[in-house]
Amino acid sequence: MSVLPPRVAFSRTSASAELTEAERTRILAKSALFNPPPHVLADGRRDLVGLSREELAEEIAAIGEKAFRVKQLWHWIYHQGVTDFAAMSSIARPLQARLAERFVIGRPVAATVQTSTDETRKFLFRFRDGQEAETVYIPDQSQDRGAVCISSQVGCTLSCRFCHTGTQTLVRNLGPAEIVGQFMAARDSYNEWPSPQGETPRLLSTIVLMGMGEPLYNYENVAKAMRIVMDGEGIGLSRRRITLSTSGVVPMMDRAGAELGVNLAVSLHAVRDDLRDELVPLNRKYPIAELLDACRRYPGATNARRITFEYVMLRGVNDSEAEARELVRLIAGIPAKVNLIPFNPWPGSSYEASSGNALHRFSKIVMEAGFASPIRTPRGQDILAACGQLRTESQRRK
Ligand code: SAH
Ligand code: SF4
Repeated sequence: MSVLPPRVAFSRTSASAELTEAERTRILAKSALFNPPPHVLADGRRDLVGLSREELAEEIAAIGEKAFRVKQLWHWIYHQGVTDFAAMSSIARPLQARLAERFVIGRPVAATVQTSTDETRKFLFRFRDGQEAETVYIPDQSQDRGAVCISSQVGCTLSCRFCHTGTQTLVRNLGPAEIVGQFMAARDSYNEWPSPQGETPRLLSTIVLMGMGEPLYNYENVAKAMRIVMDGEGIGLSRRRITLSTSGVVPMMDRAGAELGVNLAVSLHAVRDDLRDELVPLNRKYPIAELLDACRRYPGATNARRITFEYVMLRGVNDSEAEARELVRLIAGIPAKVNLIPFNPWPGSSYEASSGNALHRFSKIVMEAGFASPIRTPRGQDILAACGQLRTESQRRK
């Protein structure tokens, strides 16, 4: 019998169904089946990247070193960005050598790097077991800053009809080292070490968990990685600079809000359950009303920190004025903005992007109801780096 979850066969939970702890436990247990291999090299050395401070302390204690080494190592790894123990000048040579015998400071390998005509850069990262995922850096076009779009899984269990990643089955979850590693390796590519501190401008200034995969189906690893990224003595990106995008894994939204407090983006894409069932099959399990309730409960959603609703504009499918009016009715009372994403085609896709007119009409209705409604400019389309175009050749091992 296969242990793999069915890709589309969801049953709808009743609107009154309690989103119990048991459901969260079930999601986490399923997610654990797809965990990455342990982060140890063939020669037995352990990768220090991706360990929490507590885990790093255990490794250091196990080799008989004092606790203050943890702080030093953290600084070198995440603030200075070094990958070689010999560069750690505050650590004496003999200890550098001992560390190097037992540990490494790893990075995913960039198998390919492509830069778009608009400067967007796409990395295909290869991990230790040969699996691959894509990461995209999207520079701001007017200021020295930009977003790093990070993948959370190789492939995706969900199969949203308009998404290229959705045509690739879930291969496995990415581990904390691989998630933080995407950011660190992207930063290597721009030479942005040591980590700029506080409000100093940064080229890699925000993280969006909008690459391949559903981050809330890999919650533990994503959460651990984000805690590392947010640690003020290292990379030090605040939770306000991190946005997690979900297709609507309702039971995990509460936990992400309470524990991480990052910005939330919700992939809505339709205002009626029958259409959303088709476009985002997860809707059969967590329908629109339940999803919006979870948004209303989301801690930290205020006017200053609004929830982003993502809405991919598909010509003749979900882009009518009536749908725009229904959208503002549905989200009334939620501190929110609506990002309209013109559909990005990919090889074999069957939708068309909405016309410019349809986009503007839709946006105007949403704006007049009091919600910001920017139309997202597609970036990196020439290198298939835009939203929903990511996919790799990685396949699940039989
Ligand atoms: N799994 C998460 C995060 C990754 S997808 C989620 O679904 O939210 C990031 C965003 O890109 C989502 O809003 C997704 O719906 C959107 N997207 C997917 N395919 C797209 C396409 N072909 N064109 C435009 N946006 C797309
Ligand atoms: Fe997965 Fe998000 Fe793509 Fe849907 S849109 S298939 S959830 S990556």
